[in-house]
Amino acid sequence: MAFKLDVRRANAEKKYAGELSFTFEADASLVEIPFVSISSPVEATLHYEILEDDSVEITGSLAFSLKGSCSRCLRETQQRIVGDVEGYFVPDGEDGEDYSYSGGVIDFGEFLRDSVIFLMPARLVCGDSCAAPDYKED
Ligand SMILES: [Zn+2]
Repeated sequence: MAFKLDVRRANAEKKYAGELSFTFEADASLVEIPFVSISSPVEATLHYEILEDDSVEITGSLAFSLKGSCSRCLRETQQRIVGDVEGYFVPDGEDGEDYSYSGGVIDFGEFLRDSVIFLMPARLVCGDSCAAPDYKED
């Protein structure tokens, strides 16, 4: 994932706010649900705003599809995940709750990774009506 925002250039061009939209392949390790994987590239639509102190606010949404075995009945199923994400980037910041960036360029890699994990459901369920398989006792 190499999606970047050149804050220095945006400032020079007086583009203090803008939209970024792109797709990226999420790492398979981001899915912790058994027998489930991300079946499509993640679609990102982000809005950035550069504040006076060069910190940058990111808001937007991500969308992707999960595919695999229903966590309850094990049938093949898929689910579309769409959700809002946000991040705050501080130039040359210390480690803390915010993201930091250096050299005037924001690398979205860690933010996108965290955002996919944030939106990931705990399990994949095919529908309200499905039930766990009956275990036969012999
Ligand atoms: Zn099910």
